[in-house]
Amino acid sequence: MITSCFSRKNRVIFDLHSHSTASDGVLSPRELVVRAVAQGVQVLALTDHDETRGVAEAEVAARELGIDIVPGVEISVSWSGRTVHIVGLYVDISHADLHAGLQANRSGRGDRARRMGEALAKVGIPGAYEGAYTLAPNKELISRTHFARFLVAQGYVKDLKSVFKKFLIKGKPGYVSHQWASLEDAVRWIRAAGGIAVLAHPGRYDIGRGKMAALFADFKAAGGEAVEVVTASHTPDQVPVYARYALEYGLRASCGSDFHAPGEGGRELGRMPPMPVACEPVWSGR
Ligand code: AMP
Ligand code: MN
Ligand code: MN
Ligand code: MN
Repeated sequence: MITSCFSRKNRVIFDLHSHSTASDGVLSPRELVVRAVAQGVQVLALTDHDETRGVAEAEVAARELGIDIVPGVEISVSWSGRTVHIVGLYVDISHADLHAGLQANRSGRGDRARRMGEALAKVGIPGAYEGAYTLAPNKELISRTHFARFLVAQGYVKDLKSVFKKFLIKGKPGYVSHQWASLEDAVRWIRAAGGIAVLAHPGRYDIGRGKMAALFADFKAAGGEAVEVVTASHTPDQVPVYARYALEYGLRASCGSDFHAPGEGGRELGRMPPMPVACEPVWSGR
């Protein structure tokens, strides 16, 4: 069932994962807030990849329009040879440790993007770096999504999902491995900034049960406090699975659409199944 993820007390609709032009979203922070309001969202977290520069604009727009912004970020992490995402919610974006950590994570992206461009050129796709660069409003934040949009626009593939499958995931010609922050550092920066570290969309990590348990254990040991139970990345079957993980590891539960762009195939802002009743929501007590 797709409705909304709301608090049981007063049915306020929460969406605690979204992207703007500060990373790989296509709406400016203000446009994102306007759309959130239109969708009935009352509490929106802006969680751009490795970047918080959109938060101030979102806060101004939200104040004008009468909704709440949760200052957030989605940190790229290398864990056990793969990439996982850690969302930080309720962070002080001006905190020096967080600021420096995010800057370090962003600094490798330019080189990575150039290497992706070279890799794609080798399979007969020229100009992908320049194309992605042009499509990225924040030049410190060129992501695979910008490459994907370029490849779709050039007609190499029909949609975003197919680009990733064909070119941009591990083992495919445009994939370039990269060293992100450690799990421990990412959680430490978030906590130093007064935030709550949330393990993002665990159902997306293609790992077996043993490895998933190790990820939860490492995340918990590092000081992680919540997990995304309700996310557009999870199938209806996965929601109760990760609700059980949350209970088992003593984590709170978050919900977010991971909205990037209208009409790109992802989930609309605020459109999510409800939070399972057994979960302690990440917003409770705030
Ligand atoms: P990056 O941080 O540059 O590696 O880019 C990661 C981003 O690519 C994610 O946040 C998603 O927005 C996007 N992405 C990853 N996998 C897929 C997929 N299978 N389909 C669509 N978008 C994807
Ligand atoms: Mn993204
Ligand atoms: Mn993510
Ligand atoms: Mn995201």
